[in-house]
Amino acid sequence: MEILILVVVIAVVAIGAISGLVISGRKKKTLPPDESATPTITAPPPEPHIGEEAEGTPEAPGRTIQEVGLPDAAEAPVVEEAAPAAPAPEIETPEPTAGRLVRLRARLSRSQNSLGKGLLTLLSRERLDDETWEEIEDTLLTADVGVAPTQELVERLRERVKVLGTRTTEELRGLLREELLTLIGTDMDRAVRTETSGAEDKPGIIMVVGVNGTGKTTTTGKLARVLVADGKSVVLGAADTFRAAATDQLQTWGQRVGARTVRGPENGDPASVAFDAVKEGIAEGADVVLIDTAGRLHTKTGLMDELGKVKRVVEKQGPVDEVLLVLDATTGQNGLVQARVFAEVVDITGIALTKLDGTAKGGIVVAVQRELGVPVKLVGLGEGADDLAPFEPEAFVDALIGD
Ligand code: GDP
Repeated sequence: MEILILVVVIAVVAIGAISGLVISGRKKKTLPPDESATPTITAPPPEPHIGEEAEGTPEAPGRTIQEVGLPDAAEAPVVEEAAPAAPAPEIETPEPTAGRLVRLRARLSRSQNSLGKGLLTLLSRERLDDETWEEIEDTLLTADVGVAPTQELVERLRERVKVLGTRTTEELRGLLREELLTLIGTDMDRAVRTETSGAEDKPGIIMVVGVNGTGKTTTTGKLARVLVADGKSVVLGAADTFRAAATDQLQTWGQRVGARTVRGPENGDPASVAFDAVKEGIAEGADVVLIDTAGRLHTKTGLMDELGKVKRVVEKQGPVDEVLLVLDATTGQNGLVQARVFAEVVDITGIALTKLDGTAKGGIVVAVQRELGVPVKLVGLGEGADDLAPFEPEAFVDALIGD
């Protein structure tokens, strides 16, 4: 009996011990998930993936965070470091600049139809009465030629058509060509100034100004290609520090043709970037330094301060040889208002008219030259890398009215 009681006691103690172990074992098993719940909160996305594969490994979430964190952190420098090291884009040879406008003439099709062909059709009418001349005037105005130039053109055409008497389409085309060329002007110096007017061994300095969205940075990049195509070495200054993407955008353009881009911190001082770019250009013995500037048209005083400072600071090292104003041809009168404001702030020496491929308002070439008294030197005719053409009045007019 005693033995039986002893056996029972031993059995009870043994069961108790075993169940205690089980309970404490369960407790232990349930604990780790509680502990590992902490990193889950800090790094929720990676945990489920790794958790499935490495269940029960407490270190796994920690590694996961690092593994996820590292590539992220490494991504930014990779883009910057890999890009300059990528030699492929540097091999790109931009298309020759001569004849680009002729190559791209079809891009003017909207202006061709509404301005050039529209005028020719009207002039070909059997009777050129007042109403037709009014329509001719309207066509010119709609194409943004501007009021004064339109009146001049119509007056001269009227006179010459009267003298001519009967007229063939060819004669009319000839007249229109001459008169449009007179309006645009054939004797202006339209070459982008790349030679320095300062010390001979220093680079020419070009500032590119304009409102954001006009295509300023793109045009700066395309201009770098134009210059490289013409055999020049270029340093780019990414002084549009206020638009987040502008610096990278410009650097990419530069890399494609092997031009170094000097950049500063986001929202940094544009003048100091411009200064450094010129310094780099001098150190490298570059032919041209091309500076993209900030185009925030917040207030005229703000703009004046900003651009004025960039110019002043740059000129500590050498004169600015060209100030190119980038204007979006599709903005019409608004573009002219911008042109006026910029002209009051800096001495514009040339105009780059962008997006002429997207508008019927090719007449803006005439209006903006009148407004500023400086020539259109470049025209943008598309988003392609070599779709920026030196402006040639003859090729432009021929594209408008056919030759
Ligand atoms: P930014 O803010 O003035 O520097 O403007 P971007 O250089 O970033 O250009 C704004 C947009 O205009 C981009 O999508 C360009 O590709 C486009 N663009 C620039 N020039 C031309 C052009 O001549 N034709 C067309 N169709 N698009 C252009």
